[in-house]
Amino acid sequence: MCSGRVDLEFVLRAFSNGMDGVFIGGCRLNECNYTTQGNYYALSMALLCKKIMEHIGLNPERLRIEFMSSADGILFAEIVNDFRKKVQELGPLGKGEGIEENELESKLQEVTKLVPYIKLTKREKLALHLDNIEEYNKLYTSDEIEELFREVVSYYIDPAKCQACMICLRRCPAEAIVGGKNLIHVIDQDKCIKCGTCFEACPPRFGAVTKISGEPVPPPIPEEERTIVRKAKKTNS
Ligand code: SF4
Ligand code: SF4
Repeated sequence: MCSGRVDLEFVLRAFSNGMDGVFIGGCRLNECNYTTQGNYYALSMALLCKKIMEHIGLNPERLRIEFMSSADGILFAEIVNDFRKKVQELGPLGKGEGIEENELESKLQEVTKLVPYIKLTKREKLALHLDNIEEYNKLYTSDEIEELFREVVSYYIDPAKCQACMICLRRCPAEAIVGGKNLIHVIDQDKCIKCGTCFEACPPRFGAVTKISGEPVPPPIPEEERTIVRKAKKTNS
């Protein structure tokens, strides 16, 4: 119903499914039927996506966003025909750019996995509503996107510090923390969306969650070594 509902993940998924081009059509800017102005969000998202495409070696012209009203039938037909010609010129996805199929698939998978993190990191820019449309073209820079991917954040639970209080496990929105009573907790990096909730939630007296930037995450502690053996309290007889 609204171009603002077109998630970054939808666009990447279309490319992962082999689409050679993605066209997003939204209502004219400043003519939103609602108060949400979702088309501005869509514009910002599409510009961010184009920079991400450049980063992984895809031609950003494979993604196009245009704004028009339901009365703009001729304009719509012209724009779509123009886009179809452009995509034909570019050739099949990946081949046109000289990227091997497997390499492209793995790059798209890696980026798709990072979508929640990207949206979280860029949430302020994504929510911006600039009156001057020209300003949008300068909103995201290639350097910024390079840095975003170079310094991707990960979270790691230090097994020597975890007290198995289960606070992080209960608060994790992605069910990415594996643990239990008297069990050292571990983050499943494949499920983690890098929201940082566990980092904030772990009580300072334990300080078991570490934020890692641009470095590999240490391997998880083996399952058989996760049980915490607590010393029994001495009782006076
Ligand atoms: S960073 Fe977020 S998603 Fe990842 S383990 Fe921590 S709470 Fe869960
Ligand atoms: S909140 Fe901290 S101490 Fe508690 S289970 Fe999670 S990592 Fe361990």
